[in-house]
Order: sequence, then C-alpha cells, then structure tokens
Amino acid sequence: MCRSAEEFKTAAKEKKIEKVPSHDCSICGYTVGYIIDVSGEVYFDAGCDCTSTVSITQRSWEDVAEQYNMQTNPEVIARMDEFWGFTEEELCNT
Ligand SMILES: [Zn+2]
Repeated sequence: MCRSAEEFKTAAKEKKIEKVPSHDCSICGYTVGYIIDVSGEVYFDAGCDCTSTVSITQRSWEDVAEQYNMQTNPEVIARMDEFWGFTEEELCNT
C-alpha cells in the first residue's frame, strides 16, 4: 500500500475529518486514534490513562500514512478508503 502523507492531509481537509479512530481501549473502551486540529496539525490521542500516562502527543502526517500503508487486509483497506474518501487507485510516486 502506498499513499503519501500529503494525500491524507488533503483528504482530511476536504472531508473535514477531525478524528481518525485507530482502535478502542481494551480496558475502558475509549476510542483511541488521531485527532486533527483546525490548523491541520495531527496528534495522537491515547485518550485514557490505561496504557499511557501521556494522553495527547503530536504526530506527523507520515505516521497517519504509515498506519494506512501497513495494512494488508483488503477489507480494512476498503473501509479506510471509504473513511478517507479515496476513490482512485493508490498512487505511489516515491
Ligand atoms: Zn482505557
């Protein structure tokens, strides 16, 4: 899988995505994931204190892209494509 960080940043802006769920905390059920602020900066919200003492840390769009690019399950990828509004084939120009 190969999509660039820039694609995610653009998609988030177009779809006004403010939160990208990653997984639910197995202890309290809180939805852990990336949050995007109004200026387009991305943070990782660990949400609860179950596994981490630092709840919100700044991340880069490369991290968001990496999470997508590491997927191998077609169903998961299809769901992510729908979430991000990706309709065209993935482009890899690196
Ligand atoms: Zn928790």
